[in-house]
Amino acid sequence: MAVREILQIPHPVLRQRARKVRAIDDDILRIAYDMVDTMRNASGVGLAANQVGELLRVIVIQLPEEEEARIYINPEITLREGERRVEEGCLSIAGYKGMVTRSLWIRFRALDHTSKVVKLRAEETLSQALEHEVDHLNGILYTDHMEAHEKLVKVEPEDDNPADLDEGDDAHTDNIEDQPHTSHNPESDLWLPEDDPRNTPATLKLK
Ligand code: ZN
Repeated sequence: MAVREILQIPHPVLRQRARKVRAIDDDILRIAYDMVDTMRNASGVGLAANQVGELLRVIVIQLPEEEEARIYINPEITLREGERRVEEGCLSIAGYKGMVTRSLWIRFRALDHTSKVVKLRAEETLSQALEHEVDHLNGILYTDHMEAHEKLVKVEPEDDNPADLDEGDDAHTDNIEDQPHTSHNPESDLWLPEDDPRNTPATLKLK
């Protein structure tokens, strides 16, 4: 298994819809286990296949208190109830966080790595992570859920947090600070401008 590069905005694969998995074979499982390694290496709670450049409906989740990672294939949120405001970040928008509205709880269905059907009711962090990762499979980022007046907040780097994610630069890892913005205080926050592609509802791009 291997740690893969996590694609950063504005990589186009992050805006594409992932395909349904037809058969859970060794190729799919290898991608899934690579995703687990990549998620753990980045200290993430979840990761979607788009983020490692695979347009397949595969997500992995590992809550901080859990010892095992969950692998979910062809995941679906079948019911959403209630609303709550939560702080959110994304490994593909490294260094930032923002406030979004998520469900109070959800019902969820997927296949696991053994092709068994998993159905569960999730709330709190698990619910938030599942909504976030399923969004990725539909080309949606959490910034799409932010209101126009809301701001991304830069996360201050921690001394004990090695910059693993900075390895492997390519043309797509444009720093978010290089984007045009209207904030008067670019050091601590920024606005996504109206015409920023990240503000375009992802559903418009899927057809
Ligand atoms: Zn994400």
